[in-house]
Amino acid sequence: MNSNDKYEVIIAGGGPAGSSAAINLATRGARVLLIEQTRFPRPKLCGEFISPECVTLFEKLGVADQMIAALPSKLSETVFYSRSGHSARVPSEWFGAIGIALGLSRAEMDERLLRRAIDAGAQVVEETQVTNLIIENSTVRGVTVKQNGVEAKFMSAVTIDATGRTRALLRHANSNEHPRRDRAPMVAFKAHLENTGVMPGACEIYFYKSGYGGLSSIENGLSNLCFIVSAREARACGANADRVMREVVCQNRRAQETLRSARLQSPWLGVSLEGFGRYSVAPLHGLLAIGDAASFIDPFTGSGMLMALQSGELVADQIGKYLQSASTNLGQLRSDYSAAYDETFDSRLKICSLLRKAAFVPGLAEVAVRAFGASEKIRRAMARATRRRRAKPFSFLRRTG
Ligand SMILES: Cc1cc2nc3c(=O)[nH]c(=O)nc-3n(C[C@H](O)[C@H](O)[C@H](O)COP(=O)(O)OP(=O)(O)OC[C@H]3O[C@@H](n4cnc5c(N)ncnc54)[C@H](O)[C@@H]3O)c2cc1C
Repeated sequence: MNSNDKYEVIIAGGGPAGSSAAINLATRGARVLLIEQTRFPRPKLCGEFISPECVTLFEKLGVADQMIAALPSKLSETVFYSRSGHSARVPSEWFGAIGIALGLSRAEMDERLLRRAIDAGAQVVEETQVTNLIIENSTVRGVTVKQNGVEAKFMSAVTIDATGRTRALLRHANSNEHPRRDRAPMVAFKAHLENTGVMPGACEIYFYKSGYGGLSSIENGLSNLCFIVSAREARACGANADRVMREVVCQNRRAQETLRSARLQSPWLGVSLEGFGRYSVAPLHGLLAIGDAASFIDPFTGSGMLMALQSGELVADQIGKYLQSASTNLGQLRSDYSAAYDETFDSRLKICSLLRKAAFVPGLAEVAVRAFGASEKIRRAMARATRRRRAKPFSFLRRTG
């Protein structure tokens, strides 16, 4: 890494969004620098449910064989359990693609994507934090970074924020915005467990009073448990994840059964969640956002990683056009990317926001799981709606007629 080098694209963050963008850009011949603050492989708080469409994207990214070599579990359905034990099944084949979802730890998945970015020709630096934007005349010209306490500057034609929910660069672009961790209304925890009673081949989702959690098999015979609770409930359990699991998650009858004899196989990870939804995807000339930095979709739709991979591809398409055309300027890139982003993701974000509201209304999840459990037609339409490109509001309801 030499700070005199000038890059066509700098990407901050090496999660699935950043790696997808790096692979897509580098394979087109762009000069790319990806900067990641940690050293991979590293654990990551996530449900580790990789939806079937991601498998098709892994093939396009040239990383499918590496993923299969990690021996992920194959998940053929997701089963939603209400607190009292009613269930609704959503087969993975309803999402098209190969019809099988994967259960694989983020340590394995993210590492394989990042190494593929290097093979594709991207320059990758780990253990280096992007600390600020270099802005001239309201246009982003590059970033400042810190590595082992030493600061450096890197210049680029376009900069991408792929730093996940921290949105490290977007926060600098909008200096009025400050992290609100102290007021975060929700908390999420995750750990790897052994000896759970999860159904083989299923991702199980449990609803309880103040949230929901997911349990599914991953590699090496382990299960991943990841759950969201209100910050109030977490505080009432002394912020002790083990207690939250026993006292809150196990309010769900099915979770009580599957977690009864479970043993912890990794330390708990915990994060506070400020909220969900859309942010500005192109806040300044020369700065574009992808993955969770652009929008955070509710996790129980199992499509956060899908959106991360897809938005990496989308941004690469738009930047590729910009780099090749002498007549396209940064203003045009900004509006083209925003329009393409809306076209691809707006509809599913709206549907998922409605589903989320239902999940957090006390008692409504119980009614919804019973209603969806009774009608395959509604379940199928709802599952497809969580992936749909632009659509008229509520058109999925009419189609079930
Ligand atoms: C509780 C929970 C459960 C979930 N379960 C699922 C699930 O089962 N299936 C699913 O598809 N999605 C799930 N998601 C969503 C999924 O985790 C995200 O959508 C996905 O990780 C987004 O990828 P990303 O690359 O945008 O961000 P991230 O994966 O967060 O990657 C961002 C990277 O940027 C790096 N970084 C941050 N700041 C800087 C900086 N300043 N400089 C350099 N690097 C930086 C970080 O170290 C990190 O590696 C879940 C999310 C939550 C909260």
